[in-house]
Amino acid sequence: MTTTTVPTLTLNDGQIIPQLGFGVFKVNPEQTERIVSDALEVGYRHIDTAAIYGNEVGVGNAIAKSGIPRDELFITTKLWNSDQGTQSAIDAMDLSLEKLQLESVNLYLIHWPRADLDRYVDSWTTMEQLKVDGKTTSIGVSNFHLSHLERLAAETGTVPAVDQLELHPALAQKQLRAYGAEHGIAIEAWGPLGQGKYPLFEMAPVADAAAAHGVSPAQVVVRWHLHHGLIVFPKSNSRERMAQNYDVFGFELSADELAAIDTLDQGMRVGADPDEARF
Ligand code: NAD
Repeated sequence: MTTTTVPTLTLNDGQIIPQLGFGVFKVNPEQTERIVSDALEVGYRHIDTAAIYGNEVGVGNAIAKSGIPRDELFITTKLWNSDQGTQSAIDAMDLSLEKLQLESVNLYLIHWPRADLDRYVDSWTTMEQLKVDGKTTSIGVSNFHLSHLERLAAETGTVPAVDQLELHPALAQKQLRAYGAEHGIAIEAWGPLGQGKYPLFEMAPVADAAAAHGVSPAQVVVRWHLHHGLIVFPKSNSRERMAQNYDVFGFELSADELAAIDTLDQGMRVGADPDEARF
């Protein structure tokens, strides 16, 4: 394990979140316990999973076997679209907690707005109650556009602690970041490395900064997220890469390097547009 100290942010409800974590999207359920155990040994203390990933049991086993005190871990899971509602959301939360072998998570998110179903406001009201009931410390949303955030603000009593968005240099989400900064919503970046779906690591601003600092392009991109105040949890099945992605505090990107990476923004998604998602 490294001795890296990961910076933290304070969410709008006072909870402290490690800015760098480990995501487990598409981590095979059979391998999840081993992979999350590796991540915890590397030093990660923040794990991002979701009911739909089908691997909460593996995450829970790794946590249980790690012996790490619960209060040193930050665990996020998410309410899947078909469970949006009132009783269905309560049941989904209970099932996630059972699989994770936890009494509560640190953060529970509405995974996608699915505005066509028109249940995300009811779901949010349910999440507020789940927080009161102590099943989650913080509540937030994912893939919410401005219109969805504005509707929650108009119709409910609480502001989400986070909005977890597809966010990487080619999709920098400047408008939602500005809204989050104005309203106290922390922004989490999913697909922070572009999910390997475009040649981000070969793009000159990233490759040049990597060469200048003697680090990998992935390390440069993780650092870019952290410099911008984003919460980030890159995923890798390989222990070597998860260690590399965690070892990002030995260098600083200059203002010029950050600005050069910022020029890569072209509003390019690698995943679904939340307004069109129908899964
Ligand atoms: P990512 O951008 O983290 O990319 C993962 C890919 O990058 C993998 O193919 C991996 O092999 C590669 N990679 C990782 N480290 C590398 C390194 N050092 N060098 C070279 N390649 C490397 O994509 P992601 O997993 O989709 O996103 C991170 C997390 O975000 C997920 O695991 C999940 O927790 C979350 N997520 C949330 C949503 C949502 O809708 N809320 C959607 C997708 C992902």
